[in-house]
Amino acid sequence: MDKISIVVPVYNEEEAVPIFYKEIEKVIKKIDAEFEILFIDDGSYDKTLNIIKELRKKDKSVKFISFSRNFGKEAGIYAGLLNASGNYICTMDVDLQDPPELLPEMYKYVKSGFDSVATRRVNRKGEPPIRSFFARRFYKLINKMSKLEMVDGARDYRLMDKKFVNAILSMKEYNRYSKGIYSFVGFKTKWLEFENRKRSAGETKWSFGKLVRYGIQGITSFSTALLSIASYSGVILCIIAFIWVIFIIIKTLLFGDPVKGYPSLACILLFVSGIQLLCLGIIGEYLSKTYLEVKRRPIYIENEKEL
Ligand code: UDP
Ligand code: MG
Repeated sequence: MDKISIVVPVYNEEEAVPIFYKEIEKVIKKIDAEFEILFIDDGSYDKTLNIIKELRKKDKSVKFISFSRNFGKEAGIYAGLLNASGNYICTMDVDLQDPPELLPEMYKYVKSGFDSVATRRVNRKGEPPIRSFFARRFYKLINKMSKLEMVDGARDYRLMDKKFVNAILSMKEYNRYSKGIYSFVGFKTKWLEFENRKRSAGETKWSFGKLVRYGIQGITSFSTALLSIASYSGVILCIIAFIWVIFIIIKTLLFGDPVKGYPSLACILLFVSGIQLLCLGIIGEYLSKTYLEVKRRPIYIENEKEL
């Protein structure tokens, strides 16, 4: 018989965990397979871990790993995939924004030969419009810059077979960007779509600033296009400078040199130094990523676990 592991990263979700458990139980009954629910407590400081331990007392198929501090959702997913014992593994959010009732259909597809079944939301209803706006722009940009395809609205809600999971685990990078990693490993993937839903309880853990940082992480992890900005703008500025110099020489020869032109000089100076700073910043961004990678720090640190 198949065993399906459901990997659920949680961070301060004391309200959402019980609701999630109730819903997932209903869905599990409809599927003819063994199940385990593996919660990854990402350093919650509310009662989340206690609630999970209570569930564990009643139901041995509930398992958990708790982190020593907050390492982020990506680290949670990694730990879950690494420790899940099922031959199929599903990653899912705890807030029911990833509808559990899709699971039977997803299972049907992996059984029919797909290595992974991924989900995307077709709209962003209920989200602040400004957030949707920037998210859309972001996906346009990252898809232009990276050779890999990043699907707009893709969730981290995915059912995968062991082969797919092993491929993901073989990518040991510290700066993890799931959407890029899923796309990088390849394999046959089936996409299912659903309408966006509101959180069951609690609040989103992603502030706008955190999302921006995550976006930059996505771009720098899976594209090096930004690094060529420096070379391109350098070449363009050299050409402009060359033409300009010739123009000034001719002008001086014809009309002499009445000392003028301070404003244009200041503009050029500001423009060029702005571009220099931008390029330095971009290089710094990649350098810091490389710095963290070469340190080979652990992706997460465990505090407690019951598997
Ligand atoms: N999460 C986590 N660590 C974090 C932030 C979030 O494990 O540092 C979990 C969270 O508990 C939830 C999932 O990741 O199960 C998605 O988080 P959230 O619903 O806040 O994100 P959104 O749906 O708003 O993108
Ligand atoms: Mg959510």
